[in-house]
Amino acid sequence: MKTLIAPLVALSLMASEVDAEETKQIRITPSGTQASLKGPAENFTGNVQVDGLFKGSAPARVGGGTVTFEPGARTAWHTHPLGQTLIVTAGVGYVQQEGGPRQEIRPGDIVWIPPNVRHWHGATARTGMIHIAIAEAENGTAVAWAEKVTDIAYGVAAQDTLVSPATKNSLPSSETLSTKQRAVPLIAAAMAVSDMSALSSALNLGLDAGLTVSEVKEVLVQLYAYTGFPRSLNALSELMKVLEARQQRGIQDAPGREPSHPAPTGQNLIAAGKANQTQISGGPVRGPVFDFAPVINQYLQAHLFGDIFERDNLDWQSRELATVGALAATPGADLQLRSHMLASMRVGLSEAQLREVTKLLSSLDDPTVGERASAALNQALTLQGG
Ligand code: MN
Repeated sequence: MKTLIAPLVALSLMASEVDAEETKQIRITPSGTQASLKGPAENFTGNVQVDGLFKGSAPARVGGGTVTFEPGARTAWHTHPLGQTLIVTAGVGYVQQEGGPRQEIRPGDIVWIPPNVRHWHGATARTGMIHIAIAEAENGTAVAWAEKVTDIAYGVAAQDTLVSPATKNSLPSSETLSTKQRAVPLIAAAMAVSDMSALSSALNLGLDAGLTVSEVKEVLVQLYAYTGFPRSLNALSELMKVLEARQQRGIQDAPGREPSHPAPTGQNLIAAGKANQTQISGGPVRGPVFDFAPVINQYLQAHLFGDIFERDNLDWQSRELATVGALAATPGADLQLRSHMLASMRVGLSEAQLREVTKLLSSLDDPTVGERASAALNQALTLQGG
C-alpha cells in the first residue's frame, strides 16, 4: 500500500459504497461497522491501529481517521501534498519535521503540517498516543511515504523522557551527566553509523541543551580519528544543515570559542601529545602493536593527543563521552571501548555517569550499542578494582 489514506479510503468505500458521485443524502457510518486496520509494516514501526475512517464524496477530497500508536510506535518519514491536521485525543506523542527538533504533543493539541514538509509522528517511548488525522487528497493521493524512522533516530528523539528533571535534580551533580553531556554520546553514536536522521535529532538535542557550535563542531572533527574522514565530513555537512534550519526558525545558537592557544609544533607537539596520552591512558602507552608499527603511536601522540587534544574549546570529559559513543556504535572496537571507559574515569567521569551513558545508548534500540557499552564498562570496573 502506497499511502496511509489510500487504505483508509479503500476501507471506507467498502463500508459506505459511495464515492464517485456526491449524493444529496447525509451519510452516517455507524460506530462499530468498520473493522480496525493495522498500520502496514512498511509505513509504520511498532503497533499502530487505525479506526473511524472517513472520506468525503467527490468533489470533496477530505479524508482521514483516528490513529492509535502504542508506546514506541511511529509513522515512517512522509509528506502530504496538501498538508495534514492532527488533533491529539489521548496520551503523549511526538511530531518532528526534518531538520527540526522533535516536539511533544498532548491531548487537545492541534498540529498543522504544511504541504510537502517531510515529517513523522508517533507515540513517546513510554506512553501511547492517539490522534485524529485529516488530510486532503491531491490527484487521489494524500500522503507520500519515504524511509522509516530508524531506531537510533527515534531513540534520540525519545531521550528526554528517560530521566525526569525531578530525578536528576535529586542527585548530586557528579552522579549524573548534564543535559549537554547526555547529547554527546548520542551525536557520536549516530555519526559513527552515518545515520543522518538520528544525527540531526541528536544535534538538535545537544544545541537545545546549550552545546555551542564550536563544541559540537569539535566533537565531529575529533571523531574522524575514530570513524574516518568520510563520516566526519558528512556529519559536519549535516551540522551545517541543522544550524541553517535552526536559524530559519529564529534560534540563535551560541558560537562558542576557538581554542585559547595555537597548537604547538615540532618537538613541543610530540611532548604535549605524549603527556596528554600518558595522562589519559594512566601511564606510558606501550605494547606489541606499537613495537611492530611505531609510526602509529607517533601519529597518536602528535596528531590525536597533540593537535586535537591540545584544542581546549572542548573539555576532555566531552571528548571521552564522544569517543565512547562512537566506539560503542562500532562493531569490533570492544578493546578500545574498554580503554576509553577507563580513560573516561581518569578524566573525572564517575561510574554512575558512565552507567547513565550505557543507559542512554541502550535506549537506542539497536541493542548491540548499549550491550557493547555495558560490557566495556563492567570490564573496565573489574580491571580498575583488581
Ligand atoms: Mn503526517
